[in-house]
Amino acid sequence: EIPRMDLNAMEENYRQKNRTCFILGASGETGRTLLKEIVERNIFSKITLIGRRQLTFEDKAYENLVQKVVDFEKLDEYAEAFQGHDVGYCCLGTTKAKAGAEGFVRVDHDYVLKSAELAKAGGCSHFHLESSKGADKTSSFLYLKTKGQVEAEIEDLGFERFSVYRPAVLLVDREESRPAEWVAQKFLGAFSSVFPTMSIRITAVARAMVVNTLKDGEKKVEILENKAICNLGQIGDKK
Ligand code: NDP
Repeated sequence: EIPRMDLNAMEENYRQKNRTCFILGASGETGRTLLKEIVERNIFSKITLIGRRQLTFEDKAYENLVQKVVDFEKLDEYAEAFQGHDVGYCCLGTTKAKAGAEGFVRVDHDYVLKSAELAKAGGCSHFHLESSKGADKTSSFLYLKTKGQVEAEIEDLGFERFSVYRPAVLLVDREESRPAEWVAQKFLGAFSSVFPTMSIRITAVARAMVVNTLKDGEKKVEILENKAICNLGQIGDKK
């Protein structure tokens, strides 16, 4: 349990280190929430967004962001974009419904792994991966298998610190319509106190990623299951 005061002290302490970071997937639901947390807390000396398109932000707080637009099909040609970041956050992902089975593997496995490789080569020491509850490389479900595989392959890259987050269903007011997700959310949201392991607020995932960045890592590789994300994700909330 980290009280609010300590969180401020941890932020201040981290700020002194002058670390830089990049975010993959900053246009997505988790990524944009994470970006907001990171910008508001001002814990990095430089924030770089790496994505397939340029993003626009109204808020002045975002004006110092660096953006690198890359072609994920030819990532090797964009190795420079991944150079010189201490910390990397990956919130990239698509769905089978949007991209087909092959397209899903291409994004959630190929793009993610290649990005991690380039980040490692570029000097990144702490890599954060948003994976999923149930990720398991031996699963017969494509989704869980792909998530488990990419976790294991990134682990093999040997980052100084590798943090894997395995959230359950994300509770969010998504801009695009995903009817099945909406139904699941209405149900799980209503019953989240009864089934706390089945869902999580997206703001809690983002907060957990930030708090975990500020904490000293006890292990080289850490896997945060939904419960652990929930716990870290409420640190700093007003009671
Ligand atoms: P979103 O779908 O909201 O955002 C996905 C991000 O990935 C966007 O930034 C998007 O960029 C980028 N992206 C998607 N396809 C491509 C592509 N072909 N090329 C380049 N970039 C691409 O993500 P969520 O926040 O919902 O999920 C983040 C991660 O968490 C995913 O890996 C997901 O599998 C996982 N997860 C999700 C759960 C859920 O309930 N939704 C539960 C557990 C885990 P652009 O804006 O340009 O499309």
